Amino acid sequence: MWMHNINGSSDCSPNCRCGSWKNHWLNYSGARRWPTYCSVKGCTRAAEVGAHVQYRYNGNWYIVPMCYSHNNMRGQSVELCDSTLTAPASKSATCG
Ligand SMILES: [Zn+2]
Ligand SMILES: [Zn+2]
Repeated sequence: MWMHNINGSSDCSPNCRCGSWKNHWLNYSGARRWPTYCSVKGCTRAAEVGAHVQYRYNGNWYIVPMCYSHNNMRGQSVELCDSTLTAPASKSATCG
């Protein structure tokens, strides 16, 4: 699953009712708990934040758990683990 245009979670919308993108992911990804590791394939650092990424095939934005290092790789592309759960970043589809 290739994602591109990483956009750091510091661009958190003040209108999101979840409080943080980490909470937003927990509320809307369907996961029961925050994962241990960063969602990027091969990355063994701890998942710390909910990062914005754009899915290459439909252009939609999603939140995925990432380590600080990958969250800061703005504008770059990464391959996520196939098992990664995503939450739509669009507030109209979630907490809006
Ligand atoms: Zn939210
Ligand atoms: Zn990482």
